Amino acid sequence: MKKDTIALHEGYDKTQGFGTMSVPIYQTTAYVFKSGEYAADLFALKDFGPIYTRLNNPTTEVFEKRFAAYEGGVAAIATSSGMAAIFSSIINVAEAGDNIIISDKLYGGTVTLCTHTLKRFGISAKVFSSDEADNLEELIDEKTKLILFESLSNPQISIPNIEKIVQIAKKHNVLTICDNTVASAALFNPIKWGVDVVVHSTSKYTTGQGTALGGIIVERENLNELLTDNPRYYHFNEPDESYHGLIYTKTGLPPFTLRVRLAIIRDTGAAPSPFNSWLLVQGLETLGIRMEKHSKNALKVAQFLKTHPKVKKVSYPGLEDDEGYNKAQKYFKDGLCSGLLSFEAEDYETAKKVLNSTKIFSIVVNIGDSKSIITHPASTTHQQLSPKELEDAGISPALIRLSIGLEDSEDLIKDLEQALG
Ligand code: PLP
Repeated sequence: MKKDTIALHEGYDKTQGFGTMSVPIYQTTAYVFKSGEYAADLFALKDFGPIYTRLNNPTTEVFEKRFAAYEGGVAAIATSSGMAAIFSSIINVAEAGDNIIISDKLYGGTVTLCTHTLKRFGISAKVFSSDEADNLEELIDEKTKLILFESLSNPQISIPNIEKIVQIAKKHNVLTICDNTVASAALFNPIKWGVDVVVHSTSKYTTGQGTALGGIIVERENLNELLTDNPRYYHFNEPDESYHGLIYTKTGLPPFTLRVRLAIIRDTGAAPSPFNSWLLVQGLETLGIRMEKHSKNALKVAQFLKTHPKVKKVSYPGLEDDEGYNKAQKYFKDGLCSGLLSFEAEDYETAKKVLNSTKIFSIVVNIGDSKSIITHPASTTHQQLSPKELEDAGISPALIRLSIGLEDSEDLIKDLEQALG
């Protein structure tokens, strides 16, 4: 099936149950087992069915199967938020004494997770410059467990050299994880470019209307070829004492998401609510057409800002003179670049004025809503970063981030014009 069809049909058998056209919401915590033996079989992975909603849920399962196919992977696990997806993916492979290599351009919450919270768990983070990945290889050692980057970074709107990152990772047998939230699974599929694991905050474009917090982890086909007998991932090759001696690479099932489900989400409990999964199923149905409109609108707004005398710099890879233009043309569907753009006003005072004067844009710390959003990263989403971290991440006090919605682009441009004054 092609992606547009997958988004509407994959993972749901409408001939089952009452044949409801809409995927049912299984708003339940637990499930009645038909016998004690069947319950034991489920726990022993001899049979597959819902056990408890912290582990699996039929509504969530439709979303997982549909999203995995849409992203070009073989399996997925949904989580309660994007941060839960990122945290779960990292601790699925890294433990105290290990290190991870992260891009210098990441969402602020991911930066604090990797550089502060994980440090307290004994996992250290080394930072590489993802634009060209020139210093990546020298950072890899035998304790390196993964390389994490965003396909379109928030809020710098920068695109990494994905082929080079993947090529270096493959040479050293290190796992790659790509946060594909901003580009969206409609416009870019990292697995097609050799990435091992894709994570999303589905709270953004996937739900599409800012109605549900969620995250998802998708793994590529044949990840066993990287994990099996790889000393970096010894715990995938040894019996898991917490799961009656299960060896993840020997189950015949996609090992990465299986371990996240059975060992990580089982213990941390960061599972999605069935209702949120249902909202995400609705969102995914229209993701493709929404992303086209978000992208076209954003390009028009970026072109307008580019000509404004009070704007110093506009970052949007859809602009022909943007550093990311060639990469966007190569990687993204029809060169469409999603709805996020940032611009640097002439000074902090102008940035503050724009923030407080727009009428259609709302001051909100979210992205990917159908309604347009304006954010001042330095004082909000990235406030916890030190001045040095802000500078390293390319976030100046005059930087404004816009998440362009689905309104008429002419209205958005008029609103920004009056706000800039
Ligand atoms: N990754 C990116 C690129 C994000 O922009 C965000 C949130 O803004 C997250 C992850 C975290 O997602 P969530 O808010 O769903 O936890």
